[in-house]
Amino acid sequence: MLNEPVSNIKGIGAKLEQGLNSLGVYSIEDLLLYFPARYDVYEIKPLSELIHQDKVTIEGEVIGEPSLSFYGKRKSRLTVSLQVEHVVVKAVMFNRSFAKKQLRPGDVVTVTGKWDQHRLQITVSNYKKGKADSQARIQPVYALKSDVSNLQIKKAVATAIAQYQDSLQEILPAQYLTAYKLPGRLEAVKHMHMPDNHQVLKHARRRFVYEEFLLFQLKMQLLRKRKREATLGNSQVFQEEKVERFKNSLPFALTSAQTRSLTDILTDLQSPYRMNRLLQGDVGSGKTAVAAISLYASITAGKQGALMVPTEILAEQHYQSLTDLFADKANVVLLTGSVKGKKRKEILSDIAGHQANIVIGTHALIQEEVIFHDLGLVIVDEQHRFGVEQRRVLRDKGLQPDVLFMTATPIPRTLAITAFGDMDVSVIDEMPSGRKQVETYWVKDNLLERVLQFIQKEISNGHQAYVICPLIEESDKLDIQNAVDLYHQLQEYFEPRAAVGLMHGRLHMDEKEEVMKKFAENHIQVLVSTTVVEVGVNVPNATVMVIYDAERFGLSQLHQLRGRVGRGQDQSYCILVADPKGEVGKERMKIMTETANGFELSEEDLKLRGPGDFFGKKQSGIPEFRVADMVHDYRALETARNDAQEIIASQLLEKDKEYELLKISVLNDSILKGETLD
Ligand code: ADP
Ligand code: MG
Repeated sequence: MLNEPVSNIKGIGAKLEQGLNSLGVYSIEDLLLYFPARYDVYEIKPLSELIHQDKVTIEGEVIGEPSLSFYGKRKSRLTVSLQVEHVVVKAVMFNRSFAKKQLRPGDVVTVTGKWDQHRLQITVSNYKKGKADSQARIQPVYALKSDVSNLQIKKAVATAIAQYQDSLQEILPAQYLTAYKLPGRLEAVKHMHMPDNHQVLKHARRRFVYEEFLLFQLKMQLLRKRKREATLGNSQVFQEEKVERFKNSLPFALTSAQTRSLTDILTDLQSPYRMNRLLQGDVGSGKTAVAAISLYASITAGKQGALMVPTEILAEQHYQSLTDLFADKANVVLLTGSVKGKKRKEILSDIAGHQANIVIGTHALIQEEVIFHDLGLVIVDEQHRFGVEQRRVLRDKGLQPDVLFMTATPIPRTLAITAFGDMDVSVIDEMPSGRKQVETYWVKDNLLERVLQFIQKEISNGHQAYVICPLIEESDKLDIQNAVDLYHQLQEYFEPRAAVGLMHGRLHMDEKEEVMKKFAENHIQVLVSTTVVEVGVNVPNATVMVIYDAERFGLSQLHQLRGRVGRGQDQSYCILVADPKGEVGKERMKIMTETANGFELSEEDLKLRGPGDFFGKKQSGIPEFRVADMVHDYRALETARNDAQEIIASQLLEKDKEYELLKISVLNDSILKGETLD
């Protein structure tokens, strides 16, 4: 019924059908769910709240005779004085001379038009005798294309509702409608298109937001369940007391957020399904410690573990700290591109022969020559740096190994539960206690000299500094030119008192490593760099991060850069050099100086930039909703997610007749359009 073509609606001919098709509206159902893009609201507001040049509606009493004047060829101008509140407003009507007779002194009239605040005048586009008509206050405005008019859609929808309303069935089981006080489907469709007032529109919208999110979550979770079930049979039986003892032997007690995440992971290891989990945590929140304990658990289960990181420097750093941590409890090996010859052969043979328990490395880990004896746990650090394919190759080196992704990019919860709908997410949202916060300042360009003096002072105290150069989005080349220029300037300023180094994306791998190494060993005190300064790089002696043109960076990116300092015992500083023009830019700089919480910042970023931008273009697999908005409606998203979990866990779609229509909708739902996430 509802899948009949729109041409079955009375009054829709071939031409209009074509027009509707071009809007993506083919079936009756498409049309009923083609909701207005926005609404024009004719609402009577106090004069003091009217905005100059806006389209407004006012209600007043005609005082005196309207005055009519003619000009040009048969053009007229009628001016009516209206008493509105305690002032007189002039209503000007063009070419409506006939209105003069209708509008008598003492009549109440409602006029809509463009408001001129200075002249207290309204240029009337529409008027009606009598008080404002509440029925017509909210008018739908549809997204239009080609030659379909708003009015045509309005009429078509009205006819479709009249003709087909009996076929529009409720798909949500009654208990949800009751629990959330949502209107029924038919009622909500009517109110989306022709709302009598804001209240009913709000509830209609609420209903469809929930419906969309629930369908989406059901679909995602079904997909995930199917994938999970395909991985049955790899429970890791680890030795709990040993793991406990190892945990207690660490030089610190885990934070409660670390403990929570660790429990999630250990539960996954024991479960018969393959783990597919994302561990999120701000820089320095202690992800590596959690990873280490998890790796140890896997070892006690007789398995091998692999930790893949994006750069050699990071691999070496992790290798150092894990070797210290495990001491004689595990044999940790390092495999990177620069491990060559005999040494490499030895390591490869140790991996294949299970003499190596833990392998830490870069992309080198996914090469064919690397063969594990029994890979049980794969951990990928800074997962976004690797492609899906690379992650898959590593995973395939084991027989359904458990997989843990780690990221320091704080992904807002709202995004995480949609974008990673088929991944479990653990969040470390708490810093180890006693950590000094990085002091963040925002200065304008004219204080640069002071900034350089400040760097000099920190260097004199034995510390080091990063200086991030301006970002030039359009051109990689200019970016580098900038970096080189700044490098020369700072050389002039600091040398020979301090050594200045340069780092940018065009440097060869080896050159980059060389520069980073020098910086890490304090042979370089000031490192000028583009944003390539590697995520996760740990130089605890660096206490200053200066970011030029900070207003050009996203908040999350600024936060990442800021995370390069504050890693040691000493107080660290982040200085944002920026001269933002607009209010939003100033606000953003202020937020940076006020909050150290990466999640808060990324929520702000999400609000300012939208989800599409957050991950970059379409690759994120974030669906497009008709009504719902992930940022504004995140509470509904969480509710829908929990409900979907319950529905799937209790197999209600399969077992309960009341869920039959919901099930059909889930299966037909187009939100994911056959996409699968991995
Ligand atoms: P991440 O990998 O999330 O950036 P790390 O695991 O490298 O963070 O931890 C950063 C530093 O904090 C390391 O020096 C680590 O030893 C230390 N650390 C980790 N967890 C704790 C804790 N619970 N209490 C105190 N220090 C901790
Ligand atoms: Mg880390």
